[in-house]
Amino acid sequence: MEHKVARDDELREGELREVQVAGKKVLLLRCDGVVRAFGARCPHYDGPLAKGLLHDGRLVCPWHQGTFDAGTGDLLEPPPLSGLSTFAVRLDGGDVYVDRPDDAPRQRTMPMAGRDPRDERTFAVIGGGAAGAAAVEALRQNGFTGRIVLLCREERRPYDRPNLSKDYLAGKGSADWLPLRPVSFYERHDIELVHTGVTSLDAASRRLELDDGTSMTPDAVLIASGALPRRLEAPGAELPGVFTLRSWSDCDAVIAAVAGAARAIVIGASFIAMETAAALRERGLEVTVVAPDETPLAAQLGREVGELLRARHEERGVRFALGRTIARFEGDQRVRAAQLDDGRRLEADLVVVGVGVTPATAFVVNAARSDDGGLDVDDELRVNDNGVWAAGDVACYPERHVGGRVRIEHWRLAEQHGRAAAASMAGRGAPFDAVPGFWTEQFGLRVASVGVGRGWSDALAVGDVAGGDFTMFYIGDEVLVAAAGTRDLDLAAFSELMRRGRLPRPDDLRGRSDAGLVGLL
Ligand SMILES: Cc1cc2nc3c(=O)[nH]c(=O)nc-3n(C[C@H](O)[C@H](O)[C@H](O)COP(=O)(O)OP(=O)(O)OC[C@H]3O[C@@H](n4cnc5c(N)ncnc54)[C@H](O)[C@@H]3O)c2cc1C
Repeated sequence: MEHKVARDDELREGELREVQVAGKKVLLLRCDGVVRAFGARCPHYDGPLAKGLLHDGRLVCPWHQGTFDAGTGDLLEPPPLSGLSTFAVRLDGGDVYVDRPDDAPRQRTMPMAGRDPRDERTFAVIGGGAAGAAAVEALRQNGFTGRIVLLCREERRPYDRPNLSKDYLAGKGSADWLPLRPVSFYERHDIELVHTGVTSLDAASRRLELDDGTSMTPDAVLIASGALPRRLEAPGAELPGVFTLRSWSDCDAVIAAVAGAARAIVIGASFIAMETAAALRERGLEVTVVAPDETPLAAQLGREVGELLRARHEERGVRFALGRTIARFEGDQRVRAAQLDDGRRLEADLVVVGVGVTPATAFVVNAARSDDGGLDVDDELRVNDNGVWAAGDVACYPERHVGGRVRIEHWRLAEQHGRAAAASMAGRGAPFDAVPGFWTEQFGLRVASVGVGRGWSDALAVGDVAGGDFTMFYIGDEVLVAAAGTRDLDLAAFSELMRRGRLPRPDDLRGRSDAGLVGLL
C-alpha cells in the first residue's frame, strides 16, 4: 500500500535516505533528478545502503562494496548475487509516495535466459565456490540457453566460504546462512549441480575425466577450482586434531573438536588464521597464535594495522607466540601439544593451521601456468582460444589499475571473475577491469581493503589507526595502489576513483585527518 515518505523538494540530488513504509525500511534516492525507491538493505549481509555511496549512477554498499544500478536496482558488482527490490514511486502535490507491498521480496533475481532444448551446447564449470557459483548464474543472465553443468567435488551446493572463519565458526551464525541459493534456484534455472570432482582436464582438447569414472568434452569449460590449504611439514602434523580450514566440512570438523576442548593453537597470522583465533576465543577456548611473523598481517596491511588487530585479540585474551615456528606436534591418538622452535611447549586439544593456500590446478594439463601454479589468463579470463576459461583463486590475470599479472585470493574478486568469464563464454565479454577488494572481521572489527595491496613500499595513515577509525593508503612507485581501514565511505570512494583512474596523488593526502575522497568523486 502507498505511503507518503518525503517532500520532493527536500531530497537532494545524490542523496540516500532510509525511510519507513508501513514499518518496513525502504531506500529512497535521487539520481539524475529522478526519485527511486529500493529495498534498503544489501542482499549480501543486509548492509545499510543509505550509508553507502551514490556516484556515477552506481549505488555502492558501505560494507563489502556490493554495487547496484541506481536507476534500476540491477546488480552491477558482487558480493551480492541479486539485484534490489524496486518499489513504485509517485509524486503528488510535492509529496513523494512509495508503494511497498507487504510481501515484497528481500532481493530480486536478475533476469535469466531459460534453457532451450534446441541449443545443444554444454558449458561445464569446475568448482562450485565463489567464482563457479557466480558464473553459472551469469551464464543465464548473459543469455546462454544451452546445458550448464556445475561440477562440485564438495557434497554441498555453493555456500558462503568467508563465513566459515567468522560467525559460523564462532557459533554465532547458523548453517542456514551459508548456502548462497536454495536448491530450487538451480532447478528453476536448469543449472545441473553434479557432485563429483574432475580428475583431469586437458585444456587443449577440453576433455574432462571425472572422479566417478565418466568423461565429457563440453563446448566450453570454466576452471574455478579455487585453492587448497598448505600443510605443515612438522613431525606430527598428520595427527588427528590438527586441522586446516577451507571447506564447510573442515569447519564442522573443527567445531566438533571444540566440544570438550579447552586449549587451541592457531598456526599462522594470515586473515583466516586470525579470524579463526578470534572465533575459537569467542567459543571460550584458550587460544595461542603461533607464527613466524613479528606482526600479524603486516605484509598485507602494514605494521600499524597489524598491531591494531593484535591488540584487539590480546584485549580479548588471545595469546601470541610471534617470531616462532612449530618444531613438532606431540600426541598419540590425537594432538596433545606443540613444541616451538625455541623449545617452548604449548598444550593443545586442537590445532588449526592457516599458513596459506596453493591454487588447485594439479588436474589441468596443457595450460600456461604462473610461477605459483596458477593459470595464466588473458583480459577476458581465457586460458586459451579453444574454449577454456579460469576464474577466482586459480586465475593469474592482467590487472588493469596497477598493472602486471596478479593472482588474488578474495571472495568478491572470484565472483567478479566468475561473472566476467561467464559473459565472455556467452559471447558478451569485455576486458576485465573490476577493482579488487576484500574484508576481514575479527572480534567485531571489520577492516576492508580495496585495490591491489601487494608490492607497495610505503603506507600513509589518515585518522586514528590504534583507535580503529582510519584509512590506510598504500603507495607503490609514487601512486596509490590500495587502501584499507574502517572508514567505509573512504574505501567505497577509493574503489570508484580507482575504477575511473582519478585517484589523488599520495602527497595530497599527507597530514590530513580526513582523506576527503568522497568529495573528489
Ligand atoms: C575460511 C575462509 C575465510 C575466508 N574469508 C574471506 C573474507 O573474509 N574475504 C575474502 O575476500 N576472502 C575470504 N576468503 C577467501 C575466499 O573464500 C576465496 O578467495 C574464494 O572462495 C575463492 O573462490 P574460488 O571460486 O576461486 O574458489 P573456492 O571458493 O575455493 O571454490 C572452489 C571449489 O572447487 C572445488 N574443486 C576443487 N578442485 C576440484 C575439482 N578437481 N573438481 C571439482 N571441484 C573442485 C572445491 O572443492 C571448491 O568447492 C576466505 C577463505 C576461507 C577458506
